[in-house]
Amino acid sequence: MAEAMYNNEGVGLAAPQIGIQKRVIVFDIDDELGALCNPVITERSDETAIDDEGCLSVPGINVPVERSVSVVCEGLNLDGEPIVVQAHDFLARVLQHEIDHLDGVIILDRLTPEQRKMAIREYNNRATAE
Ligand SMILES: [Zn+2]
Repeated sequence: MAEAMYNNEGVGLAAPQIGIQKRVIVFDIDDELGALCNPVITERSDETAIDDEGCLSVPGINVPVERSVSVVCEGLNLDGEPIVVQAHDFLARVLQHEIDHLDGVIILDRLTPEQRKMAIREYNNRATAE
């Protein structure tokens, strides 16, 4: 999974994105590889921020997504030991994005209907241009 993420220059990847039906995510922030099995967000800040996100599942587009600024995420590491990740800012955003994938939610689902229409149009335009 980490290989697929690096090959695509991603900062995170969820197993279902590469056809693995497991609740596993990998992420790489500041050159540190992390992995979580069965991650669950147990706390999220009321404070949110909107920032552009891209996704390897919808390549070529970036859309503004509102996320909690901080989250606490519990899961298992690759050795099966329970771990707790306190994430802020960019890492918090990546974790929320990847955990969304485990629930079948992608960035387009986080947009308003109007934003989604524009994003899909842009995505289709790019796809036919290539
Ligand atoms: Zn994604």
